[in-house]
Amino acid sequence: MGRNSLIAIPGIGSAFHVQAIVTNGGFEYTHKDTGTHKPGERCKGCKKCIEACPTSAILEGGRIDPNKCLRAISEKDPVPYEYEALLGSRLLGCDVCQSVCPVNCCFDPLPEPEYPLKALLNGEITELKYAIGPNYARVNKLKKKASVVAANLDRQDLLEDIRQQCEADDASVAAAMKHALERLEEHK
Ligand code: SF4
Ligand code: SF4
Repeated sequence: MGRNSLIAIPGIGSAFHVQAIVTNGGFEYTHKDTGTHKPGERCKGCKKCIEACPTSAILEGGRIDPNKCLRAISEKDPVPYEYEALLGSRLLGCDVCQSVCPVNCCFDPLPEPEYPLKALLNGEITELKYAIGPNYARVNKLKKKASVVAANLDRQDLLEDIRQQCEADDASVAAAMKHALERLEEHK
């Protein structure tokens, strides 16, 4: 486990999910969870993830402050206003502490996708659904996230789409769109 709190597998890196462990063996309780861990061998002399984290969310002892981590924050509804700009073009959280980590150096970095913001604002999520899975691909959630990114990127070309969504039936979508509209109009 690294300072960024992520487990890495040699030859695979840290960008993976453990979905399930299938075993007929038992697990012996050997470790009292103190909430911290000693960073592994790979972290000796390295603090790249700490230096690169945009919100200083990586604490000593391999802990992450979930109140500062953009991955956790981007799941909040609404995203706290003070963190909106830090999300930049990130529609789905943040992977900076993985992308700078040497355990992932042998893999081609994932290209920053160009999200179809106009389509997402209008609730067309099919293109993204297969890439991110059904848990993330919810229409209203993605509409709100797209409105934050559109305002961050000063996408004046999307003003009309956002204005129309201010009349959305869902009150939280309408509120997010009104807020994005205000931010975009401030930049005019
Ligand atoms: S970037 Fe460096 S310090 Fe951070 S987890 Fe990777 S090896 Fe450890
Ligand atoms: S995901 Fe981003 S914000 Fe969260 S700890 Fe890693 S670099 Fe920091």
